[in-house]
Amino acid sequence: MKVMTGSAVTRAGEMAQILTNLYAGDVLFIDEINRLNRAVQEVMLPAMENFVLDIVIGKGSSARSIQLKLPHFTVIGTTSKLSQVNEQLIAQTYVCDFVPYDIKAIGKIILSFANQQGIPIDESGANIIAEHGNGNLSQISNLIDKVRKYSDVRADGTITAKVAKDAIKAFGLNLSAPLEERERQPIPDSVKMFVWRRDNGRCVVCGSQEKLEYDHIIPVSMGGSNTERNIQLLCEKHNRSKGANLA
Ligand SMILES: [Zn+2]
Repeated sequence: MKVMTGSAVTRAGEMAQILTNLYAGDVLFIDEINRLNRAVQEVMLPAMENFVLDIVIGKGSSARSIQLKLPHFTVIGTTSKLSQVNEQLIAQTYVCDFVPYDIKAIGKIILSFANQQGIPIDESGANIIAEHGNGNLSQISNLIDKVRKYSDVRADGTITAKVAKDAIKAFGLNLSAPLEERERQPIPDSVKMFVWRRDNGRCVVCGSQEKLEYDHIIPVSMGGSNTERNIQLLCEKHNRSKGANLA
């Protein structure tokens, strides 16, 4: 696997060099693929579509273009801003949307991690830590470490719900906003614009253009994100009937 960052490669020539150094079966992993500039994207598109590279040799009237065949490789790109990725590039890929772990799943991960490390903790304590970890496992690992130290010094060494809450309070460790606050996070304008264009300004159920609302396909309370993949246009009527179904 070759790993690169979208912003690190800025010239078409650099991208061509990376592509010509790939072997059949290689994976080219591009972090922040939304940051590839236009010149680089123009090299990427034919490479991804037909495994070819168009190169211009010479200058002026003697310039001629040749086409290099590339080995069959795989591109994996990551982004948190799908709306900023070239649409032609998206058309070449299969898009997977990763939603954060929900609190219960994180609670289980914390329990098993604590067991491995020999940290005494009960389920309620794990859930409190999970709620404050922002769905981010490295943040949670730091949090466990701090709560554990608090628990050793100020409690009897076992992380219960009360100990976890006290520790978080004592350290001022309210790292992430509680869920209710996150639910109120507005959908970014760029996402709204993308969804509006994608859904052609119509309710995806009935095609109505009246009283449209942005609907979270997976509700935020269930771990749904504010990303394009999780948002659709619904008319007021269909958004309400969906709410009734979920209830
Ligand atoms: Zn509708």
